[in-house]
Amino acid sequence: MPQNFGVSSGQREKSAIFGPQALQNARIFGVALRGGCGEHRRVRRLGKNHGGYFGETMDVRAVLRDLQAAAQEHGWSCESFHQTGGLDLWALHRPVKQPAGRVYLSAGIHGDEPAGPLAMRQLLQADAWPERVECWLCPCLNPAGFARNARENAEGRDLNRDYRHRETGEVAAHVRWLERQPGFDAAFCLHEDWEAQGFYLYELNPAQRPSPAARMMEAVAAVCPIDLSPVIEGRAAQGGIIRPTLNPADRPLWPEAFWLLQNKTPQVWTLEAPSDFPLEVRVRALVTAVQTALAHCF
Ligand SMILES: [Zn+2]
Repeated sequence: MPQNFGVSSGQREKSAIFGPQALQNARIFGVALRGGCGEHRRVRRLGKNHGGYFGETMDVRAVLRDLQAAAQEHGWSCESFHQTGGLDLWALHRPVKQPAGRVYLSAGIHGDEPAGPLAMRQLLQADAWPERVECWLCPCLNPAGFARNARENAEGRDLNRDYRHRETGEVAAHVRWLERQPGFDAAFCLHEDWEAQGFYLYELNPAQRPSPAARMMEAVAAVCPIDLSPVIEGRAAQGGIIRPTLNPADRPLWPEAFWLLQNKTPQVWTLEAPSDFPLEVRVRALVTAVQTALAHCF
């Protein structure tokens, strides 16, 4: 589910969802994908999401084990900074001598958005990080939500609205962990939107630094349809990119991206995969976006 940024989404205005290039990409990708029975299939909406996410779920305990194993195999340090319902909130760190850049990535703050943690697992297992990028990953911020396939935590709280007041155990512990880390050059928050017609992203980049957003969208279009609507979630969008102009200080409830922007990094991208498409497509879209951005920035 997307960041709300304090604005009611109201009536979603989606038109011209698939531009000619996105359609072309879907056709290309359609013949590249194979179904379980070996038949080729096209990338298209599954039509499952009516009023919420009704797609594939993930075994959160198995994914957390995989994440930890991949991190350790490739020389990352692993720290559990909180536990809830017997599940750990992990922070992973890839130390680098003389880093050219410091990057933070998070996923899994909404427990009905499995593509984020699964993309983190794929990124860790692929181990194809730019050599001199120091990375910090929080690959699953709401494991209790995944245990019941719900957006909120076990107490019914949306963690991604709690970064101003930090009333939940998960967010309070996460911010305490973040405060112990150095500043980041860039941050990425991996999400999914069950209503989305295609992939899109939010860019918070108030100093208007050079941005990899357009390159991310170009690369993702090769693997997943892009939402080309002029308005997404009530905000103006261009080529699947939303650039909100707002002051977090004026907003009563903060998503993680606001806290990061106010305290830790000059640039944050919130990536939104369309969760009515096949899970493998969404995972590939998020992995492609992250890898493209890192290759472009560092
Ligand atoms: Zn979300």
